[in-house]
Amino acid sequence: MKIILRLLAFIRKRWPGLLLGLLCITVSTVGGLVVPRFLGNGIDHALSSGNRTTLLVFAAIILGTTVIRSAARFGDTYITQLVSQQASYDIRKALYDHLQHLSFTFYDKAQTGQIMSRATVDIEAARMFLSAGLLNLFQIFLVIVGVGYLLFTLNWQLALITIAFMPLIFWQTLYVSNRLQPVWTKVQQLIGSLGSTLQQNLTGVKVIKAFSLQDREKKKFNADADGLYQEQVTAARIQAVYTPLMTMLLGVPTVLVLWYGGRQVIAGNLTIGGVTQFILYLGMIAGFVSRLGNLSAMISRTISAGRRIFEIMDTDSDIKDRPGSVDPGQLKGAVSFKNVSFSYNERAPVLKNISFDVQAGQLVALLGESGSGKTTIINLISRFYDVTEGSITIDGWDIRDMTLTSLRRNVGIAQQDIFLYSATIRDNIAYGVPNATLEQITAAAKAAQIHDFIVSLPQGYDTWVGERGVNLSGGERQRVVIARSLLVDPRILILDDSTSSIDTETEHLIRQALDKLIKGRTVFIITHRLPIIRSADLVLVLKDGQIVEKGTHEELMAVNSVYHKTYQEQLAESNTSEIDTGRRN
Ligand code: ADP
Ligand code: MG
Repeated sequence: MKIILRLLAFIRKRWPGLLLGLLCITVSTVGGLVVPRFLGNGIDHALSSGNRTTLLVFAAIILGTTVIRSAARFGDTYITQLVSQQASYDIRKALYDHLQHLSFTFYDKAQTGQIMSRATVDIEAARMFLSAGLLNLFQIFLVIVGVGYLLFTLNWQLALITIAFMPLIFWQTLYVSNRLQPVWTKVQQLIGSLGSTLQQNLTGVKVIKAFSLQDREKKKFNADADGLYQEQVTAARIQAVYTPLMTMLLGVPTVLVLWYGGRQVIAGNLTIGGVTQFILYLGMIAGFVSRLGNLSAMISRTISAGRRIFEIMDTDSDIKDRPGSVDPGQLKGAVSFKNVSFSYNERAPVLKNISFDVQAGQLVALLGESGSGKTTIINLISRFYDVTEGSITIDGWDIRDMTLTSLRRNVGIAQQDIFLYSATIRDNIAYGVPNATLEQITAAAKAAQIHDFIVSLPQGYDTWVGERGVNLSGGERQRVVIARSLLVDPRILILDDSTSSIDTETEHLIRQALDKLIKGRTVFIITHRLPIIRSADLVLVLKDGQIVEKGTHEELMAVNSVYHKTYQEQLAESNTSEIDTGRRN
């Protein structure tokens, strides 16, 4: 009940539309209710007496009612859809907003496919309830009360016979719906599971191939697909039994009404039109009673969908503002790690006792083999995770004492493999600053060396990119991301350049763009680019979550360091490409 109320809260502010929908549904329902009565009266007054004018009058009345009814039906269908779509938009938005605020820890644990299924399937279930369900309930109530009244005033004995079968029909539909519901839930789960398997396989296709896991993945997928098939066959079987049973449950009272009502007619207690009305109303009320049965099942489905939606909405981010946290305003950008240790879970710590100090405006290069903890360090600076031990300060402020908004305003991230949103290039660049002017956007794009490319596209800045648009090359994407960061202009910039798809064509453009981006701010960069590493004020060499060496390039080269030994060789290779670009420049 609490869940239904919370869902209803989403539709509450749409009350004018809802009220209009209720009005339309009342008109169309009452219109539907009176048609059998007019029909019955028509039979009695026009057909029995052979009066053509009366027949015409009844035909006209019924036609008129039908027209009004159809108009009202249009209104109620349209308005209900409109209101429910608005409500589901609100729910979806609330869910997405919440998802944005959840910490990375949530995403480490949750499966993307399952979240996707909640955001789509469950919201759709809630929407169905808010549109069809709610107004149906109202309409069913109107019909049952209305028909009951009309029948009892006509002939109470016959009305009792008719009504007597209704609990049976209700019970039958409810029973079937309740048997179907767990099957549908299972189907939903399997679709979610298939979705996440598929998604994991698509995003990890290289890994799967590299480790020859195709067979294992295929088995998993097939098992789910097979389960889905079985469940759907079960659903079909239940429905196949239901339909003929319903026919029986409706046929028997019809025969009874005809038999008993016919006797009443012969006895002169009821007119032919009266019996006709009974038979028509019987079909009508039976239809609505079985809808009531379906609806009760739909409500329980909605409750489970709502419970899953609210479960996410009620998940508190474990990264949140401490009570009493402050907004220090514009920061200078001096960053210190003091004995920072961190672990993602209870297992061994990923970072051990990390300490270093960076002055405002300095460039820090992070080096180390894969898995040494580089990405983890930069994730800690923007507080995607909180340190397990020790502290991180900016200008002397512990980052846990600042509000998250002020921290994220000062710390920008330009992730290399960050996905571009399916939107125009313009919107992609302006992502962090939605109210940026076109001049500001162009300026950022020029500095990022991507302006010329953008204007060469047929639709320029309005070109659609991402899943549904133009596919950008690795280098172009990188420069769009750089332009995005330039526009945000954060004091502290974090660049994960490690996965850069080196695109020799545009290498020198990226270099220029990066140089512009780095200038004048505190920068943490994970990169292979030798000139940047050489110009760094601080190089941190990581191994197994510890800083094994720190200093400038010169300092580290002067001593017999790991940096000197290991990176000399590795960097020598990338030197070749640097010389290449040097020549082009
Ligand atoms: P790098 O960026 O240097 O390649 P990372 O910081 O990504 O290294 O990873 C450091 C260690 O932490 C690795 O052992 C990695 O497996 C582990 N790790 C990274 N991300 C997570 C996560 N979200 N949950 C659990 N362990 C993680
Ligand atoms: Mg990494």
